[in-house]
Amino acid sequence: MNLPLYFDYASTTPVRSEVLNKMLPYFSTLYGNAGSNLHHFGWLAQEAIDLSRNQIADFFDVKPSSIIYTSGATESNNLAIKGYLKGKPKGHLITSTIEHKAVLEIFSHLEKDGYSVTYLTPNELGQITKEDLMNALQDDTILVSLMMVNNEIGTISDYVAFKQICDDHAVCFHSDATQAIGKIKLDLKGLPHLMSFSGHKIYAPKGIGGLLVNNNIKINALFDGGGQERGIRSGTLPVPLIVGLGYAFTYLPEILSFDQKLLGFNLRIKEALLSNFKNSILINSKSPSNISSILSMSVNGVHWEDLFNSLTTIAISNGSACNVKATNPSHVLTALGHKRDLALSTLRISLSYMTTEKEIDFLIHYLNEKLKKLLV
Ligand code: PMP
Repeated sequence: MNLPLYFDYASTTPVRSEVLNKMLPYFSTLYGNAGSNLHHFGWLAQEAIDLSRNQIADFFDVKPSSIIYTSGATESNNLAIKGYLKGKPKGHLITSTIEHKAVLEIFSHLEKDGYSVTYLTPNELGQITKEDLMNALQDDTILVSLMMVNNEIGTISDYVAFKQICDDHAVCFHSDATQAIGKIKLDLKGLPHLMSFSGHKIYAPKGIGGLLVNNNIKINALFDGGGQERGIRSGTLPVPLIVGLGYAFTYLPEILSFDQKLLGFNLRIKEALLSNFKNSILINSKSPSNISSILSMSVNGVHWEDLFNSLTTIAISNGSACNVKATNPSHVLTALGHKRDLALSTLRISLSYMTTEKEIDFLIHYLNEKLKKLLV
């Protein structure tokens, strides 16, 4: 085993070797610009992009034209929400307090721009309920944005019900599905009108992602340029990254088949720690509707700096990786009612289909030893 061990796959994943191999020629010999439609180099680039778009569309069972390539989920969220609202009269919007910052910051700006925003709050299991959504709808509600899987605690949202409610009320439903793709078997009848996803969470490279745009939804571009991606997202397409994203999608059904294995690992870690430190460990990933690859728990009675300074041989997160430089407690954990110190002393362990039994043995033994010392 090579140390340190990685248990932070919700933060990012390595590029799968088969995916990397498919990408490599497009950095060197096949370097054409898909926009060059007068020669062979351009045609080959365009062919590769068409194949990738089909691979992604097949996975979601949608038309290839519904897929818009972006630089990642942050851009997809911005394009979805701002692109949908652009040109429409201002109105009421609904989101939740447990969204990723890549959604929350957008709403914070929209509020300053004169939109009214309702922030739904989670119940004690970390879930937003369909009743909450129903109660929040107003006559002037234009858009709902609720994530599919929470990146910090792993709860799976009731997105099928959210979609139905939005359809019934003729409201656009956007969902940030960054942590859902490749982790849950999607119920396609709940496919949101707009859905964001990212390559680097599914063994494709960083810097590429996409937005699924349902046929009936119109999105306006956020910036001007060469008119690529049906005029919705201008800019020369990054062919190697797009090739990688497409192939990464073809491996997702296989990756999903590891779910039971991950559930077993998740239960083993949880049970081992609870049996030894019952009074100090608080499980945050406690909804029955939770992905098997994320286990979040808070440790009572140890200062978060001591906790993380001692855990040097394993790579885990203290909540959201995007927040690691800030010493502010996670907004998701505080939304669950945690006080600052407890929220900061949170371990988010995230697993992959590549995680092995031996790695889990090491992790459990390591955490047991460290916590024993820290909790004396
Ligand atoms: N949304 C969620 C739920 C995420 O977990 C992340 C990544 N941490 C993002 C958005 C941002 O994605 P990207 O890095 O592709 O911009």
